[in-house]
Amino acid sequence: MSDMATEVRAPGDALTFDPDAVRAAFPILDQEMNGRPMVFLDSGASTQKPEAVIAAEAEFYRHDYANIHRGVYDLSQRASDAFDGGRRKVQAFLGAADWREIVFTRNTTEAINLVAWSFLEPRLQPSDEILVTTMEHHSNIVPWQLVAMRHGAKVVAVPITDAGELNLAALREMIGPRTKMLACTWVSNVLGTVNPVAEIVGIAHAAGVPVLLDAAQAVQHVAVDVQEVGADFLAFSAHKIYGPSGVGVLYGKREHLEAMPPWQGGGGIVDRVTFEGTTYGEIPFRFEAGTPDIAGVHGLGTALDWFGQFDIRAVEAHEIRLMAEAQRALQQIPGLHALGDPRHRTGALSFWVDGLHHQDVGAMLDLDGIAIRTGHHCAQPLHRRFGLEGSARASFGIYNNEADVAALADSLRYIVRKYG
Ligand code: PLP
Repeated sequence: MSDMATEVRAPGDALTFDPDAVRAAFPILDQEMNGRPMVFLDSGASTQKPEAVIAAEAEFYRHDYANIHRGVYDLSQRASDAFDGGRRKVQAFLGAADWREIVFTRNTTEAINLVAWSFLEPRLQPSDEILVTTMEHHSNIVPWQLVAMRHGAKVVAVPITDAGELNLAALREMIGPRTKMLACTWVSNVLGTVNPVAEIVGIAHAAGVPVLLDAAQAVQHVAVDVQEVGADFLAFSAHKIYGPSGVGVLYGKREHLEAMPPWQGGGGIVDRVTFEGTTYGEIPFRFEAGTPDIAGVHGLGTALDWFGQFDIRAVEAHEIRLMAEAQRALQQIPGLHALGDPRHRTGALSFWVDGLHHQDVGAMLDLDGIAIRTGHHCAQPLHRRFGLEGSARASFGIYNNEADVAALADSLRYIVRKYG
């Protein structure tokens, strides 16, 4: 076992997290990029997939694939069982009370759009407000703007501090009778800030405001329990948690979903269709028009099984340790500045370098086989808050190790010395 292994013992079990063994489960990582061993530090954009997930999807297509739910033949039953099993696994993973509270979408973005159009739009009045935060991804800003525009309502951003933390005092002041929704990210995709979501939900609920949590950057890094946190809605994407692209999840409290109309028409959502009118089916099917990504949902279930073999506290401790080490190393590079310095950070570390464009930094790191992301990371308002147009972002996953951090720091030191 590697000397980096983190051992965490929970009551009744003894789980060991060995980063070297974890890394070996990801075939894509075992390759060179530009003649160097690849260092993948772009998991915030999308995570790589373990062999278990790749194999499960391939096997599913080889042996069990058919369309689901309306087939009486054995193969369709098997495919339906795999799909329905995926939903149960998501329910267990999120700690939801009921499988009907899990709606499959294409991604986080679509899940947020669903809530914007089906839950919020029918309730909006002129001069209503939707609160978001300055650290939101565009996916958690633009859908709300689209529905607000229809009704003369407004999207208002709760500010953040220089450290990149949400200003809770401002949130308390800004929330009021005009607020119809609070949409907030759990973890920032740029700053890595872990927001105190239970406290935020408590503040909103005290004012009678429902909350959507964007968990796109949370589910793969911190323990998520929707009942514990009390969110009305929560969204995430399978591709951020070692699952396939093309599948997203919306969790919604049953009483909300049951009161919501369908937002897309089509097969699968109906009870009875006539040319005079249509009645709609039960939740969650009411929100899942058309053939879903059947193999993708099975792949997500497999990813959650795979991820679930590790104690999330060990994963979190490993990633936080790596990020702290990266922050320490990068801080020592003259002219390199990190965005924010939140007390609780996971997943992402963004920075800029005096005199160098972030895209040039990314391109030069690529020459050393290091994959990071550059640009605004779909968070333009956040970058403007820090007086920037964009930044370079290193983001971490379960498979990263200290050698990745050292390679990043070495390469950045060289780039800054030579070109900074
Ligand atoms: N929200 C956050 C915080 C994200 O980081 C992302 C993706 O990077 C999204 C939403 C959108 O996710 P998707 O593109 O899977 O819909």
